[in-house]
Amino acid sequence: MQTVKLINGVEIPILGFGVYQIPQEETAQSVKDAIQAGYRHIDTAQSYMNEREVGKGITESGIAREELVVTTKIWVQNVNYDGVIKSFDESLERLGLDYIDLLLIHQPYNDVYGAWRAMEELQKSGKVRAIGVSNFSVDRVVDLAEFNEVKPQVNQIEINPFQQQAQTIADLHAEGVAVEAWAPFAEGRNNLFSNPVLTKIGEKYNKSVAQVIVRWLIEQNVIVLAKSVKPERMAENIAVFDFELTSEDQQQIATLESGESQFFSHKDPAMIKMMANRKIEGI
Ligand code: NAP
Repeated sequence: MQTVKLINGVEIPILGFGVYQIPQEETAQSVKDAIQAGYRHIDTAQSYMNEREVGKGITESGIAREELVVTTKIWVQNVNYDGVIKSFDESLERLGLDYIDLLLIHQPYNDVYGAWRAMEELQKSGKVRAIGVSNFSVDRVVDLAEFNEVKPQVNQIEINPFQQQAQTIADLHAEGVAVEAWAPFAEGRNNLFSNPVLTKIGEKYNKSVAQVIVRWLIEQNVIVLAKSVKPERMAENIAVFDFELTSEDQQQIATLESGESQFFSHKDPAMIKMMANRKIEGI
């Protein structure tokens, strides 16, 4: 599969399989189905509470470790130097792996600088191949980059047709930071899967709305994280390497921009307090 090369040379498959909100009892099977469908990049997080089942799915799939790119994310309560060192080892143990390909700070809160120093050390030791952040604004990415030895290699943010983030993508790419799109389908909000503009574009190529969206992101060199528990949809979402959008299609998709998150603002004080107080047991 097409890859995106990070500033440190690590290559990440441009389409990944996300496991957020997959119940523990379904996760191992979903991971096996995704690997069977051709996905070689899996995105989990400490807060998804399914790292152990992701590890089980990987093991049971029989895939060689070096063929897979696995991401996990440090939850807010562990975002400080000691928290990263301790919880990273626990994540590794749950995943049954001896290294992680990409380790991210999940949210831009708590002691990000302390956490980053621990992540720099983990990368130097070879336990992590690449390090980055998620849900950071561009100014905070640049600040972190300027005052540390190692620059963030990735920022994972919400991007979908209603929250397109064109300027943010351009700014991050200009800084050499690879961009990953979470909730590319906006989790189906705002009737995304029956959107008339996307449906009409898809009809031209005999492709679904989901396929048009994945293609639209890939053409921007954005790494896409798509989630489905259904094998037929996993296969659908990955079948996007045999068509191209025109600039007219892209202009049509641009009209869908709402300029707002489909979920919440990371700058909302109430959300920050909610995440600060969300203490997850066992991670
Ligand atoms: P998403 O991928 O935008 O949407 C998933 C939803 O779309 C599910 O309800 C799925 O249903 C449905 N779906 C998938 N493919 C479909 C298709 N071809 N046709 C119709 N429906 C389809 O949402 P997401 O899971 O929130 O985001 C993707 C990944 O991004 C996550 O799994 C996670 O890895 C990552 N993420 C990261 C953050 C962060 O803060 N860093 C936040 C959110 C998500 P079924 O499963 O029933 O098929």
